[in-house]
Amino acid sequence: MNALDTVATVAGDATVTAEQYSQLLAAVLRQATVGRIPASVDEVTVGQSDRLRAGEIKLCILLGASEGIFPGKTDAGDEIFKSSELEILREFGLDPCDNAELLASAELFGFYRAATTPSERLVGTFTGTAGGFDGKERPVKPSQGVERLIAMFPELIIEKYSDIPHAEQVWSRESALEAAIERRDTPDGAALRELLCTDLSFAAFITAAENPFDSRNERLSPELAAEIFRGDLSLTQSRLDSYVMCAFGFYCKYMLDLCEPAVAEFDSADTGNFTHRILERFMRAVMNEDGKINFDLTKKQRAELADTIISEYIEGAFGQSEERSPRTDSLFRRLRRTTLLVIENLIGEFSQSEFTPRYFELPIARGGAAEPLRIPLPAGGSAYIYGKIDRVDTYKRGGDVFLRVVDYKTGTKKFSVSDLTLGLNMQLLLYLFSLWHGGNKSNSIFKEDENILPAGMLYMSAGAQRVDAEPDENEEAVAARASDGLERTGILINDEELLRAMEKKLEKKYIPVWLKKDGALGSTLSLEDIAGFGKLMKNAEKTIAEIGGRMKHGEASAQPLCDNKRNACEFCSYGAVCRVRKI
Ligand code: SF4
Repeated sequence: MNALDTVATVAGDATVTAEQYSQLLAAVLRQATVGRIPASVDEVTVGQSDRLRAGEIKLCILLGASEGIFPGKTDAGDEIFKSSELEILREFGLDPCDNAELLASAELFGFYRAATTPSERLVGTFTGTAGGFDGKERPVKPSQGVERLIAMFPELIIEKYSDIPHAEQVWSRESALEAAIERRDTPDGAALRELLCTDLSFAAFITAAENPFDSRNERLSPELAAEIFRGDLSLTQSRLDSYVMCAFGFYCKYMLDLCEPAVAEFDSADTGNFTHRILERFMRAVMNEDGKINFDLTKKQRAELADTIISEYIEGAFGQSEERSPRTDSLFRRLRRTTLLVIENLIGEFSQSEFTPRYFELPIARGGAAEPLRIPLPAGGSAYIYGKIDRVDTYKRGGDVFLRVVDYKTGTKKFSVSDLTLGLNMQLLLYLFSLWHGGNKSNSIFKEDENILPAGMLYMSAGAQRVDAEPDENEEAVAARASDGLERTGILINDEELLRAMEKKLEKKYIPVWLKKDGALGSTLSLEDIAGFGKLMKNAEKTIAEIGGRMKHGEASAQPLCDNKRNACEFCSYGAVCRVRKI
């Protein structure tokens, strides 16, 4: 009743959810003490020593008679004030509770009263060691109550739990499970396992215990895997990346939904969202109805247009300026500078390019305007990779329409062709293939007479590198150098005419492609012909089919991908539960 009174006092008339009420009640009950008057003669009464009115009893068992537990530790003062603070309060005539010494005496008295209650037998239990948060066992002494008993009665028998005959250690299904696992190699253990396996709720524990705790190999049961991955697999590249980096981490994140509480801060994903949204809205705003960019705007007008879009975005997401912190505003000022730099770079690129932006934030989804590629899986069903393309540029040559898909990258992750063979960072290539092979068949984004062909995929850096200004360098020159740092990586078509349609003079200003002295094309990115793109597509399909097959078979091992470029464990949140990384 006292506990309920406390809840009423604390919560008042507040409306709370069932879960909040449960947490509140649990918090109050944790502080409550338990005591009950025996209702009949033959019974076992369990309670706290200072509350129990045991009366005439024959046997008393003192649980947890270890140092600091029973009698309890009192030198830390009460829950709110330390002993030293209580002393100060007392000097001012305030006495919120008894001092530590009195509390210690009360604790010892509780032990004395419990120990002297039984008329026939007293049993005390205490542990010799206890585990800390670091998992290490530490020695624990018996409490001073036990030490005093031993001093008074030197003939007292101290029995170790481990010396008790095994058969006597099993008194419940839970203790039988413990014994079955601990003594797995003995006839007793085998008999207990056999017995427990008849109970379905315990059989699962027995099976799990067969797998050593430090084993990296983990696999879902065929039934569970079939349940989770029934039919087709709908995947995103983030899920694929997660699975390739560590299957165990993938299950923790996407199947068990284990996640750290979200921290309310503007993180790298928010920075990416900001840049993507502003670039999308700006590019849409400067497109004429005929699908061409309006180059009549001056640099100043473009900056004003971008500022309007940025202000609308910030106010929509973060409120009016007076509601935002100076730190947030300073972050947005920095992002604005970078975004304006990217905008000017894009305007510069398209003013000399024959490729035109045709779609922005184009979703790749089944039933949508652009269908994902269907990749048949060996175990049945198909895999589909969903996502969104930041920008699709097109160039028409005769009846052929060449596509270039572009992704803005605000992070520092670099694209690498070798990642594709692992199944990482494939999304842009897959989206290109989706449009190439599904583009004008079942949907309407391309006309039926348009022969869709790949011209490339580009990751464009949308986060400016830091540049140091020379003492006499003007702002324009510094901005030009920063703009040069906005690199593009990816794979482009090995066709000079098409490359010149992207950058007329091939002087490495917008795409890293140039003409060598011998007239051949030079580039720091991969150049492929149409057949090469076809080969890349076949390889990508094979890689995804292999990953999808592993998923369908329930492969969930904690085998992190660690090579000279990455370490899956480095930023993984599941070190506390996996069997590999020691936290
Ligand atoms: S810490 Fe490493 S091994 Fe453990 S789940 Fe994460 S990536 Fe996998």
